[in-house]
Amino acid sequence: MTERESITCRDFIESLDDFVADEMTPEKKSAAVAHLGECRSCVAYDESYRRTIALERSLKADDRQA
Ligand SMILES: [Zn+2]
Repeated sequence: MTERESITCRDFIESLDDFVADEMTPEKKSAAVAHLGECRSCVAYDESYRRTIALERSLKADDRQA
């Protein structure tokens, strides 16, 4: 067993929802942050995911105004 829990890209992507919402346990969060430190493709995925959420929120806000 390794000292620190390491996660795969699949684990990261599956838990990205919780990561972005900041609803992870500190252990899982630090594993996710550590994964981002060594995986550029997940960094890009995280960024585009956050952008999508921001876009959805602004679209919903537009809906309410209309
Ligand atoms: Zn990854």
